[in-house]
Amino acid sequence: MDMSMPDPTVVDLPITDPKCVQAVEACTAFYAAENASQAAIPWAGQFKYGHWATYYWVIIIGLLSIYHVFTTITDHRSPSARTAGNGPGILQKVQAAGRSIFYRRLPPNGIAKLLDASPNYGVLAFLLLTLVFLLGLTFAQRPYYRDHLGYGSPPIAIRTGLMATACVPILVALAGKANIITLFTGISHERLNVVHRWVAWMSLGLSFIHALPYFIASYQDFGNGGYQRVVKEFYAGGFKGCNQATGVPPLAILFGLCILSLPAIRHRFYESFYASHIVLAITYLGLLFWHSMDTLDSWAYLWATLAIWAASWLTRIFVKTQPLKFTHEWFAGSPATLTILDGHVTRIDVWPERDFKWTPGQHAFLRFTDFAPLDNHPFTIASAAPTSAAKEQPHAVFLARSHSGFTNKLTSYVHSRSEAKTDSTSTTVWIDGPYGGTRPPPSRFDSLVLVAGGTGISACLPRALDFVARATSPNASMKLKRVVMVWAVKKKSALSWICEELKTLLAASAGRRRDEGVDEKATPPGELDLVIRVHVTGEEGNEKAPSKSEKAGLSSSSQTSPPVVDTTHGRPSMSALLAEFVRPAERTMVVGCGPEGFRYDVANAVAGSQTRVLKGECIEIALHLEVFGW
Ligand SMILES: Cc1cc2nc3c(=O)[nH]c(=O)nc-3n(C[C@H](O)[C@H](O)[C@H](O)COP(=O)(O)OP(=O)(O)OC[C@H]3O[C@@H](n4cnc5c(N)ncnc54)[C@H](O)[C@@H]3O)c2cc1C
Repeated sequence: MDMSMPDPTVVDLPITDPKCVQAVEACTAFYAAENASQAAIPWAGQFKYGHWATYYWVIIIGLLSIYHVFTTITDHRSPSARTAGNGPGILQKVQAAGRSIFYRRLPPNGIAKLLDASPNYGVLAFLLLTLVFLLGLTFAQRPYYRDHLGYGSPPIAIRTGLMATACVPILVALAGKANIITLFTGISHERLNVVHRWVAWMSLGLSFIHALPYFIASYQDFGNGGYQRVVKEFYAGGFKGCNQATGVPPLAILFGLCILSLPAIRHRFYESFYASHIVLAITYLGLLFWHSMDTLDSWAYLWATLAIWAASWLTRIFVKTQPLKFTHEWFAGSPATLTILDGHVTRIDVWPERDFKWTPGQHAFLRFTDFAPLDNHPFTIASAAPTSAAKEQPHAVFLARSHSGFTNKLTSYVHSRSEAKTDSTSTTVWIDGPYGGTRPPPSRFDSLVLVAGGTGISACLPRALDFVARATSPNASMKLKRVVMVWAVKKKSALSWICEELKTLLAASAGRRRDEGVDEKATPPGELDLVIRVHVTGEEGNEKAPSKSEKAGLSSSSQTSPPVVDTTHGRPSMSALLAEFVRPAERTMVVGCGPEGFRYDVANAVAGSQTRVLKGECIEIALHLEVFGW
């Protein structure tokens, strides 16, 4: 029989006859039904779901960008231009109502651990919104399947495939240290990371919903040739005809990416996780190009991904990595000294190039080419940010707590090189940064309450130093009137980590004036109002009666005259601190940094204190938490 001629025995069969379905378009009834199915839900029409997923992200990023521009402009208005006001306005009350919910966090050891997420309820609500939106797009249009697989791919499979592909550019943007989302919205990479992880799981879910319907549809069509069709499409057809086969490798890789990112693996084997993550992500992108075969606009998402990725890496390499900047001497690290301190902490003093500027609370990635050239780890800059007018070389201090990986190498290196008595050595370091920062800026508040646990002091100290530097500068014009720094440490000896900086603060603080009989609450205009309080929480602290204040003299090898600071035994109570330091008719900002449980306490205490704004007692209480990890 001539193969181009339709088989006359099947041409006129009814669609209910399996032979008609097996004969596909050779059977007139099948051909008509296929056209009707495609007319009802066109294959190409499903591609718009990828567009909608993209619009969702564009709208979210657009709204956050508008908010960022708006707040940046209002934050930079001169302090005197803002009216102090006696109570909160309606907008501040609405904001406080939102903060009382969205600042809250899940207990760190409960469901948060299971969800691999300890962000605030605000981020969780956003993730839930995204999930609901994607599920809505997935399941809103019926039917999910066509009557027969031969009529075309199941609509639910096409749209979820495109939606999963549309997630890829956003996934890559959310992962970059220097990324386009941060550029537009001001939200730093370490805060975006949790969204990156969860969008990856959503993309994996969409990919499964994309793949499974082909198997379900072929199973349902089993007797009607569905099984043979899947087998044919899977194992034959070459590049053009093997659509199902090319989908399995990227799906498997995405599954691997998600599984290897689970906290149990990520935290335990961070270096291996990171290296494998990059390799797998590149492979995934390559396989997606292969799988989607430039069908309609499918490659547009992938080209966008490549552009975002390239921009992120080029910025990181040539703008952020100091020894690779065009204006610097190439491959020349900055001089640094490493000093081992009490409590498994290494102090890293770095003297970077003059044009390396940062703001309080920012962090940088450090790479020590002498002993760990492949490691690049983030640490917060604990020293005062250089002023814009400063001409001297900047001095960046980092406090690194030892764990088992790179930080352990750091300690071993110092031990292997240092002279026994000083526990200190010199080296060079590549700085990649700065990244991060504080939103909203503390300068627009009346009071700043800094609460730190352990090495979390790195995120708080520069803010206190910045306050002192600004307040004592000849042209001081600040709205910020008061800074309270509360630091919880296991041992009193931890104070030696920042001896010099503490001395600077204490020299300028109200604590010093209190010693001299000055009432802290009645700080004369123009004078500094800075309170420093240290809580010793470890055994050393428990030896004495709890909550009993004392004066502690500190000594350190780096100085001769030790500073004197108030210490209190026992953990600080966050709600008691806020009750004490959040003042009526004022705007207060709380910045917290410490272990997960510590952040949970701070966040929930600040969320609880929003009732004071709702009652009209205070104008605003904002929170910024720094997290040392992701
Ligand atoms: C924005 C930011 C600022 C930070 N600032 C400080 C600081 O000022 N002082 C301080 O002591 N620590 C800080 N950290 C944490 C510090 O980066 C890690 O403790 C350090 O990288 C651990 O290295 P390691 O190889 O010894 O860890 P490991 O023993 O391998 O692991 C210990 C923990 O550190 C995490 N970790 C390991 N490598 C990295 C990495 N490259 N990036 C992020 N997390 C990692 C692991 O997931 C694990 O939870 C900060 C982290 C971030 C994200």
